[in-house]
Amino acid sequence: MAENRLNTVDLDRQLSEQTPQEIIQYALEEFDNIAISFSGAEDVVLIDMACKINPGKVQVFSLDTGRLHAETYQFIEKVREHYGIEIDVVFPEAAAVNKMVREKGLFSFYKEDHKECCSIRKIGPLRRKLLTVDAWITGQRRDQSPGTRTSIPVIQDDKAFARPDDSLTKFNPLANWTSAQVWNYIRSNNVPYNALHDKGFVSIGCEPCTRPTGPGQHEREGRWWWEEATLKECGLHAVNINK
Ligand code: SF4
Repeated sequence: MAENRLNTVDLDRQLSEQTPQEIIQYALEEFDNIAISFSGAEDVVLIDMACKINPGKVQVFSLDTGRLHAETYQFIEKVREHYGIEIDVVFPEAAAVNKMVREKGLFSFYKEDHKECCSIRKIGPLRRKLLTVDAWITGQRRDQSPGTRTSIPVIQDDKAFARPDDSLTKFNPLANWTSAQVWNYIRSNNVPYNALHDKGFVSIGCEPCTRPTGPGQHEREGRWWWEEATLKECGLHAVNINK
């Protein structure tokens, strides 16, 4: 395991030639304490693949910001039941949410930007969760965001969330897949998906910060639409911006 952490650049070259299933198999074999981050359609593709490769090894967590759509909560439950897995639903610190809402109201992100709210509701809980694992798997794709995801590797050292004096490895097995490939897999394998996709939503986050996208719009245009494309990350994938 330590050996693999040392040279993720070389490993990325090798793994980039592999299928997502082969990348997941490699990740599950190399790391005992590894978790899949679950929020969207891509993540359930990862869960489906991982359950077929090694069902006993699948750890899944999901961030509940307190601002998700009702359909997203139903989706999380559907995935839990469909695969018979435990999902660790991680919540923000109540005191931090309470302070922000008391001082700035429930929609401060429209007046300022989304950074403070995402930091409290997403990044803090993610940081807490990632302190408990050695590696994590995400559903990021290169064509998901024109400003921030065009060069994400299949495997990387996640310096943004690593424990002090330790390393954290991040796998993005779908980095080279397109949205069409993801949806082909979902349809062919009867993978559960969020009912909001049938209502025109493509990239789904929190309810106040997500809207449907029309024909010809990039999927990321439905997220934080009042901000610049280059800022459209909530910080969960901080290494995309820090580079
Ligand atoms: S996406 Fe919007 S509501 Fe959700 S944590 Fe970020 S700013 Fe807050």
